[in-house]
Amino acid sequence: MPLSIIHFPHPTLRHRSKPIVRVDQRLRDMAAEMLDLMYANEGVGLAANQVNLPIRMFVANETGKRGEGQEWVVINPEIDRPKGNEASQEGCLSVPGVYAQVKRPKSVRLQGYDLQGNELNMELDGFLARVMQHEVDHLDGVMFFDRISEETKRDIDGELYEFETTFESLRRTGNIPDDAGIAQQIAKWEEAYT
Ligand SMILES: [Zn+2]
Repeated sequence: MPLSIIHFPHPTLRHRSKPIVRVDQRLRDMAAEMLDLMYANEGVGLAANQVNLPIRMFVANETGKRGEGQEWVVINPEIDRPKGNEASQEGCLSVPGVYAQVKRPKSVRLQGYDLQGNELNMELDGFLARVMQHEVDHLDGVMFFDRISEETKRDIDGELYEFETTFESLRRTGNIPDDAGIAQQIAKWEEAYT
C-alpha cells in the first residue's frame, strides 16, 4: 500500500519511535516515497511517524524543492549540544494550514546515519537546525504546538479542534482503525525494523 501522510490527532504521531536495526530495499523505497510526499506537499521535512511508520527515520530538504539544496535521509537521529534561542514560525504536514511561533535552540548537533550506513555528525544552525529539531520531535511523539506558550496555543485551538472532529468522523466511518488496530500495525513495523 502506498504511504500517505497522517494528520493530528492520529495516535502514531504520539508514538515514540524505536531505533532502526535493519536497512533493506523496502526501507530505502519507503524513504524515497517519503521524499516524494514531502515535495508533493511543499514540505521541508517529513518524519516516518507522519506516514504511520513507527521507526526512527526522517527526510528533509530545507529548500523544499527537488534538485535544489541538499536532500537528507537520516536514520536514528540524536540531537544534543543546544545553543542559543530563537523564535520562528513553524507549520507541519500533519496539521496543514496551522502555523505558530515556536522557540527552539538556534544551533544543535545532529548525529545519525544515512541510508548507506555512513555516520552523520553535524553542527546545525538556522533554518536547517529548526527543521531537523522539528523532525526529531516527531520521532519522539512531540508536535510543534507542544512547545508553544498557552497563549499562542489558544490562537490555534480552534483549528486543532477541527482536525480532531475530522479524525473522529474518519474513525466512525472505518477509514482509520481503532487504537487496538493501530497498536497492531505499530507492533508489526517494530518487529520488522526495530
Ligand atoms: Zn511536522
